[in-house]
Amino acid sequence: MIRRWGAITAFTTALLAGACQYVPALPSLPSFAAAPLCAAADLRVDTDFATGGQHRCVVSPEGLVVIQVDHEPTIAEGINPSPWYAFRLNANAPREVTIALDYTDYTHRYVPWVRTDTTEWRQLDASRVTLNERKTRATLRLDLPQGVTWVAGQPLSNANDNVDWTRRALAGSGFSEMEYGKSLEGRSLVGFVGGGGIQAIVVLTRQHPPETSGQEAYRGFIERLVSRSDANAVSFRGRHRTIIAPMPNPDGVDNGHWRLNAGGLDLNRDWGKFTQPETKALSEWIIAQSGGRRVVSMMDFHSTDRTVIYAPPLDAPSPTIAFLPFLESAFKQKLTQPPEWSYAHNVNGGTSKGWALETLKAPGITVELWDQIPAADARKLGAAAADALIDYFAR
Ligand SMILES: [Zn+2]
Repeated sequence: MIRRWGAITAFTTALLAGACQYVPALPSLPSFAAAPLCAAADLRVDTDFATGGQHRCVVSPEGLVVIQVDHEPTIAEGINPSPWYAFRLNANAPREVTIALDYTDYTHRYVPWVRTDTTEWRQLDASRVTLNERKTRATLRLDLPQGVTWVAGQPLSNANDNVDWTRRALAGSGFSEMEYGKSLEGRSLVGFVGGGGIQAIVVLTRQHPPETSGQEAYRGFIERLVSRSDANAVSFRGRHRTIIAPMPNPDGVDNGHWRLNAGGLDLNRDWGKFTQPETKALSEWIIAQSGGRRVVSMMDFHSTDRTVIYAPPLDAPSPTIAFLPFLESAFKQKLTQPPEWSYAHNVNGGTSKGWALETLKAPGITVELWDQIPAADARKLGAAAADALIDYFAR
């Protein structure tokens, strides 16, 4: 919205600065901040906040609010089906409302979460969600209080949120924060580095904007890594530099994208060509920060329709490949529902995982959390991964 204002202002300025003798008075423009996407007599819908979805909407004569769930512009045809939605309702008085999420050719994936100014995020009861046969349209029934109600595919977590969380989690643990680059739209790319031992580990999450259950596992991982106080943990932290990227795609997150950065590309298919500023800056920063140390593992936390680990094959050329079966058995011992495993490597896949093996000779691990895993369980999985890393590499 702000960018559109900027374009109009620049155009007006160009007109005024030009050779025209007569400049017609332009009609005054509405304030975008106040303009809803659609409105009924006593209800407004908008997306004018960070993480707000790429929506249009319309209200039927009977009061049905129809919200089109669309994805960001994509260079490659066929965007990954993660139809993100996030919008805000503002009611003049308490009322019921029925909302249809219209996905066109995509299908409903994210269970709706709701919060108000006075209540925390909660999942909308399943009895209040109905799908059409093709699952291309989801109808939600909501009881709105007077004022603001937020509806989204996951509890909202904007681009600042995980950077702020990470800063707080690492406070007092000897980490430094740095801006390792700028996104395509000029947002800061922020990383954290701590320790200076002979080996290194790399941790990242949120390459894909809606994948906040992966972010929960990342948080469990970071908390355990810095808080464990036994001899193994102290030894591990003394021997390893930890390189952390909590928000490698801030444009995609704040623009409410399904999958891509502002350049229309999936960043986790760009590790190799590095056509985008986010991946180029991050890969160069990781190499610089590892400073020639042996990188023992690179963990990249994501979300999908089940909890699954993607790892390179056990005969891959990495000196620390034997960590993988250790991690797999640690998950089996500690988690009531251990993740599935998939061992494979694709040199040309453009994933962080493939790049880690090719460039760092480190087992790159894509840790995928089920979209609907309870936050506490996601954190447990992250903590179990940190424990395994500490116990395996402390010696
Ligand atoms: Zn992902």
